[in-house]
Amino acid sequence: PLVLGIETSCDETGVGLVRGRTLLADAIASSVDEHARFGGVVPEVASRAHLEAMVPTIERSCEKAGVRLADVDAVAVTTGPGLAGALMVGVAAAKALALALGKPVYGVNHLAAHVAVDVLEHGPLPSPTAALLVSGGHSSLLLVPDVTAEVVPLGSTVDDAAGEAFDKVARLLGLGFPGGPYVDRAARNGDPAYVSFPRGLTAPHDMREHRFDFSFSGLKTAVARWVEQRQAEGTPVPVDDVAAAFQEAVVDVLTRKAVLACSENGVDSLLVGGGVAANSRLRALAQERCDAAGITLRVPRPGLCTDNGAMVAALGAELVMAGRAPSPLEFAADSSLPITTVTV
Ligand code: ATP
Ligand code: MG
Ligand code: FE
Repeated sequence: PLVLGIETSCDETGVGLVRGRTLLADAIASSVDEHARFGGVVPEVASRAHLEAMVPTIERSCEKAGVRLADVDAVAVTTGPGLAGALMVGVAAAKALALALGKPVYGVNHLAAHVAVDVLEHGPLPSPTAALLVSGGHSSLLLVPDVTAEVVPLGSTVDDAAGEAFDKVARLLGLGFPGGPYVDRAARNGDPAYVSFPRGLTAPHDMREHRFDFSFSGLKTAVARWVEQRQAEGTPVPVDDVAAAFQEAVVDVLTRKAVLACSENGVDSLLVGGGVAANSRLRALAQERCDAAGITLRVPRPGLCTDNGAMVAALGAELVMAGRAPSPLEFAADSSLPITTVTV
């Protein structure tokens, strides 16, 4: 099936076209520059930008793919979780398009789409696969029986998401927004062992009660204290080294717990997805530790880890191929859609 996917949960207007498991086009318009001066995404600004970008981005995606809208078999759209006003723009556009074309529409879960996108690169997921989902708003370990089936949550962050930690630390180091890519780049010139920052929820008692949970707010505070102390002493802050040491603390815990989740559940396939999966050190360390443990690692290329329309189209195509019923036309955006709801 030829499926058009629309993503507007945050600041990216993404429109992807997928035929089966083949990616045809992935057009993205971002309002990130408009948010940068505020140091965070401004919901009203994002909604307005989606409204302006929607039609041109749909057109651009069709042009890239060399298909006509009339050829589309189904429309898929992120229905949640995300920013309410931003989601609403995508959902309204998808419904209008589906209605005009006389084709079915699938309201899908943004997080499930971060997982499903990998089929475009690496084919069908082995069943079950463990997934480490790390993004701007979420950090979870899951068991995925099938990309269209309800996931089994193993654990999640008890405070900040991994991406949020990257963004906050970037800010206190005076780097750009969103912080992840800047920290990643700075860390390449830094020494990850320069400071040993705390590894959240890895103490013995935490490994009993919060075995597959994460915590990053203590780490962020530790970095802030360290930086403040340097500043108070009038000593320059070695930004690259602090970035590398912070990043190492995050990816060490993420990969350690992800590999443990695999071994304890008898799963030999790990998928890492979400915006933070674009991180070069996370990709390298995950590969190293999976190799050592005999686990097959699947990580989409960086451009498909951060928000995009192709991931929504990919999940839509999986739903169509699995024979799942489309969403009723009256479905609404749900900013807090639970991770276990794949489609509404
Ligand atoms: P969610 O998927 O939870 O709704 P989101 O859609 O806003 O969140 P994504 O686009 O999936 O977020 O991910 C964005 C996050 O990924 C940001 O926090 C960003 O800093 C982070 N990120 C992007 N690239 C990198 C990188 N190279 N290293 C670390 N973090 C990164
Ligand atoms: Mg974004
Ligand atoms: Fe996302």
